[in-house]
Amino acid sequence: MTDVILVLNAGSSSIKFRAYYVEGDVADGELGLGLHGQVEALFSAPHFIAYDQHGAQVGEKHWGDGAKLSHEDGIQTISDFLTSHRGDSRLIAVGHRVVHGGEKFAKSVLATPQVLDELDKLTPLAPLHQPHNLKPIRIVAAMHPHLPQVACFDTAFHRSQAELAQAFALPESITSRGVRRYGFHGLSYEYIAQALPDFSARAAAGRTIVAHLGNGASMCAMQAGRSVASTMGFTAVDGLPMGTRCGSLDPGVILYLLEELKMDAHAIEDLIYKESGLLGVSGVSGDMRKLLASDAPRARFAIDLYAYRIGREIGSLAAALQGLDALVFTAGIGENSAEVRRRAAQQAAWLGIELDGAANDAGGPRISTPSSNVEVWTIPTDEELMIARHTQAVIGTL
Ligand code: ADP
Repeated sequence: MTDVILVLNAGSSSIKFRAYYVEGDVADGELGLGLHGQVEALFSAPHFIAYDQHGAQVGEKHWGDGAKLSHEDGIQTISDFLTSHRGDSRLIAVGHRVVHGGEKFAKSVLATPQVLDELDKLTPLAPLHQPHNLKPIRIVAAMHPHLPQVACFDTAFHRSQAELAQAFALPESITSRGVRRYGFHGLSYEYIAQALPDFSARAAAGRTIVAHLGNGASMCAMQAGRSVASTMGFTAVDGLPMGTRCGSLDPGVILYLLEELKMDAHAIEDLIYKESGLLGVSGVSGDMRKLLASDAPRARFAIDLYAYRIGREIGSLAAALQGLDALVFTAGIGENSAEVRRRAAQQAAWLGIELDGAANDAGGPRISTPSSNVEVWTIPTDEELMIARHTQAVIGTL
């Protein structure tokens, strides 16, 4: 009988799942990807799709436009599918992505009811993500009360940062309430940190900036694989412009919106999380593929602003590292768009970054010239595998 660890990565309207076979000992056996897929568009046009370990489609279901599925329905669908395809395997644990671990959770943890209560309290720090991340844990606990579940945090990897790098210049009466820079996308950065030695000893041991450019986007400065600084701060809306999030904003703009435009907190939340970034600037789309294919001047401007902001933040993170040995692009845009990589690298050319155009067009992995001062790489991230590794480590201690 094969042991299986299930990873669930739940967002507001989708639930991704990946089943990993543990080959050998539970605590340190190799993890192999098995069945995987997702339920998406839960509240508009729900769609379930599943693939086997070879990438062949093995399940699909549509509920039709306008249908609505709850997260419970979505997890039940995944559970029914996995049960019917169980074969000779046994589910031993479920690992979950949880965006915020706050000050307390610097490591993955067994998701007991007490831990969940503490994680609920962090919802105001990540209102659009945290509740959706926690809900599946409770749903699975109701279905399988004795199955170990592990919460893996996007903030944990950044807890290695110095106090200075995590501080805001606010009075202690405010910062002592946990108002500080947390940083996110930590599961992605940790995966890249673990993968770096396979690509470059210099990048693994030295000063490396990783650009996670997906729908959400941030960058992390690493020294020898440990987080030193990041562009995201107290919430996941800081730093780079994203698909629909604005990124860094003068706090005076929020006051202007409140006082002059009479917007309330809810309207401002919608504006900065859902209506800004590439979508807001272009007026066309928050999807980079659509912007790259568009001739609209505002679409071109949105891409220009995106690349410019990446360039500015590379400068800032290189200053935090006191130099730069390597730059890594990852996630949907970073892994797939040669044009965005080229433009972002151009903005940082002053650091001695020299891209190899043909290697960049071919997708790498190494995309810098041999004479470039800074190595540039594209490395696919795998947050779900990182969650599975953490889950394995936590249940190995039980
Ligand atoms: P998420 O943060 O939701 O996991 P992804 O990492 O999948 O997002 O990234 C989604 C982004 O990647 C979208 O903006 C999408 O347009 C972009 N993307 C995916 N493939 C390409 C491509 N070939 N060229 C440009 N952008 C791409």
